[in-house]
Amino acid sequence: MTIHGEYDHNNIFAKILRGEMPCVKVYEDDVALSFMDVFPQSEGHTLVVPKSVTARNFLDLPSENVGAYMGRVHTIAKAVESAFSPDGVIITQFNGAIAGQTVFHLHFHIIPCFEGQSVGRHGKTGMADTDHLGRLANEISSHLPR
Ligand code: 5GP
Repeated sequence: MTIHGEYDHNNIFAKILRGEMPCVKVYEDDVALSFMDVFPQSEGHTLVVPKSVTARNFLDLPSENVGAYMGRVHTIAKAVESAFSPDGVIITQFNGAIAGQTVFHLHFHIIPCFEGQSVGRHGKTGMADTDHLGRLANEISSHLPR
């Protein structure tokens, strides 16, 4: 088992990026696509995926892409915070299966945390209702800078 390896062009996020699989979109530009996690660990769990790269994880991302991509992660995280006023926010990502990674196209998780509500375990939560995710995505989008 290794952190590095061949990029699988048929991973689920590659398919979402190509429009072959659906997602509940929050934001998209030429650098990144952001959408709701379908197995959310909390209300508002959002993913930010870099476009035009074949990076399995953060360590694979060419350094010249880091700044623009992290800028998108920051912008989306601020919009999530404005949308839901959580008491805390987890911003994280996993590198390699042994670290907990399950989809091998780089992505950051933005997971709002609320007082009195436990955050679900990574990979152990149920599937969310698409309409509900759509409402959350609209709420986040409405808090993005114009
Ligand atoms: P990882 O384990 O790689 O850090 O995170 C992958 C994330 O993708 C998980 O939180 C999982 O719930 C989410 N996920 C897996 N399949 C899909 C999918 O088809 N659509 C969306 N929107 N999220 C997915």
